Amino acid sequence: MGRVVFVGAGPGAADLITRRGADRLGSADIVLYDALSDPALTALAPRARWINVGKRGFGHATGQTAINALMIRCAGEVDCVVRLKGGDPSVFGRLEEELQALADAGIAFEIVPGVTAALAAAAASARPLTRRGSGRSVTLATAMTREGQLLAGRHADTEVFYMAGKQLAALSRQLVRSGWPAQTPASVVSRAGWPDQLHSAHTVATLGRAAMLHAGRPTVVTIGAGACPVAASPRGELLRDVLTAATDPTRA
Ligand code: SAH
Repeated sequence: MGRVVFVGAGPGAADLITRRGADRLGSADIVLYDALSDPALTALAPRARWINVGKRGFGHATGQTAINALMIRCAGEVDCVVRLKGGDPSVFGRLEEELQALADAGIAFEIVPGVTAALAAAAASARPLTRRGSGRSVTLATAMTREGQLLAGRHADTEVFYMAGKQLAALSRQLVRSGWPAQTPASVVSRAGWPDQLHSAHTVATLGRAAMLHAGRPTVVTIGAGACPVAASPRGELLRDVLTAATDPTRA
């Protein structure tokens, strides 16, 4: 019986995988991968059989069950199955379901972390996610519920939204409704970590304007303290004022 290694591939570009992740790919017999990965990653596992289990390879509804079954079957046939996931496997990666399936089948596993999109976006935009004083907490959130509803709140000084690229205008309205002041900084980054990464700066109220620029690309939206530019300019002062006003006095 083989084992399954979950490897976080990082935000996309092959050189953002960890050395441990690259090492595990080197010993893989089979790699089960999703659509977001850089084709250059295949060079790290030249002797492995690469199987695309992304949405293009599998139907929507039965996808997860089919992936679980395939993973278990592969582990029965070879020594090392790498389950390659974009970013970090623990962040919006359906890791829970896959770990449960392996536990039920009694199959050994290992998890290798990766750079999640929120961190790649912070680097791409030169906007640190935490700030001394104004940014003490960060939330990684998805705006979409399982039922496809848009749900966004205000839970931390910095909030990073995944999977919201298609609904920026709706996200903007929802954020204002849930208590974020309209002038709160909002930073949008798509394809973070790739050579063609794009970044644009907005406020919560004007977030919808980012839609065209980032259309069709994986996008994260950062709101609050971690969206402020770091610059000792008058604009910086202004944004600091806005943030101070936006800070929940009960948490000061
Ligand atoms: N496990 C992944 C997230 C998978 S959910 C991680 O840790 O990053 C997919 C969502 O991640 C996309 O809808 C997008 O919001 C975000 N994402 C993934 N790669 C990205 C990238 N390179 N740049 C910006 N956002 C990205």
